[in-house]
Amino acid sequence: MNKNLAQLIARIVGFKAISFNGHHIFLLKVPMVYIPYSTLAKCQHDLIEKYGFDDVYSIFTGLGKIHGYNGTSIYIKKYKIVPSESDIDFFFEQAKLVGLGNMKRGSVDMKEKYGVIQYYNSPGAIEYKKRYGIQEYPVDFYQLGLVAGSACAFFDDYELIGIEKECLGKGDSKCTIEIKSRDKWKEDKDFAKLIPKKNEYVEKIKSIETLHALLQPVQTTSEVESQLLRYLRQKYRGEVYNLTEEGIKLFKLVGMITPIEILSLLAYTTIKQFGSGAAQVFYDVGVDEGREAIENLKGAVTFNPKSANDVANALDVIGLYGFGRTSVLRADLRNNNLIVKVTENFLAKKYYSYFGTQKINVDHYLAGILAGIASSIFGCEMECEERECVVQGKEACTFELRKKK
Ligand SMILES: [Zn+2]
Repeated sequence: MNKNLAQLIARIVGFKAISFNGHHIFLLKVPMVYIPYSTLAKCQHDLIEKYGFDDVYSIFTGLGKIHGYNGTSIYIKKYKIVPSESDIDFFFEQAKLVGLGNMKRGSVDMKEKYGVIQYYNSPGAIEYKKRYGIQEYPVDFYQLGLVAGSACAFFDDYELIGIEKECLGKGDSKCTIEIKSRDKWKEDKDFAKLIPKKNEYVEKIKSIETLHALLQPVQTTSEVESQLLRYLRQKYRGEVYNLTEEGIKLFKLVGMITPIEILSLLAYTTIKQFGSGAAQVFYDVGVDEGREAIENLKGAVTFNPKSANDVANALDVIGLYGFGRTSVLRADLRNNNLIVKVTENFLAKKYYSYFGTQKINVDHYLAGILAGIASSIFGCEMECEERECVVQGKEACTFELRKKK
């Protein structure tokens, strides 16, 4: 495929391929989630603090690798690409499209299955360093996984290993990712320790038959745009999400979009690996994200805690991130007590389709976000409990919000 064709495809499947309706975000009908880089950094950092570097690194890079591999394989098949060196640029366009920033091709050897990628402004690394200072290790775990997986599809060899040799997060002037075989890495003494260990649950995911359908489009009922998004679109002439060199901006936030099922898989692997303490991390990270989400919209929208309509709009903020459609089943605004239903929650739906019926719910992160939103608008500490979940065979997820005791 020549470069013009690559650019043409990139334009066709470009930003237009992404649609938002205030409940969901779709990229070519694959349900996506908007993740602010502040959230990604906090999640990774807090898990490392609690459980150490190695397993968190293996899980994040491992999931990124599965996603990068599947995503790239879909394009290679769909456009019948016989990969050549210049085609790699097409995948960098795709990376930019989902908010990953600027990647450029360094030296590539197709025969040797070797490649170097320069990553100039990794928004994730910039945010990580801003929050937590200079790190001993590279910090772009998930992004590294994506690049490595994509390269594996490209070179048609899943066993290749990517390592981030330079990283803004450890004080380097840019990020550099190198891809080569495990054996070659073993000779590279300084970096061999960064070969991700095989994680048993990531391996298990790889072997699940239905996961071969990862990143497949979903059937959805047609949805009316949310009241909140309609309002924002009118006020800002459609400019609600902005694709920039530094990622996808949603007002003051900078983030990326990624298939929401990655969050289902992240919940599965981390809770299997670390136990329910990981669920608590997701909840706590969610609380911060929920507060940040409302903070981010201040100036654009006012949420009056005494107005049922405003409270409903505030809860609908989760839809701007792609978590589904909320409806308030019960609102006792005098006592700050609410029952909220979330329909078409693809995080739980995907979880259910891969892992079947669960005894406990899986939406710790979403529950945290709802608690954070409610805390912010009511001006007091709120907590959220998921009462019913799609993974228990229910048709929707139901949450209770109440004042924290
Ligand atoms: Zn649920």
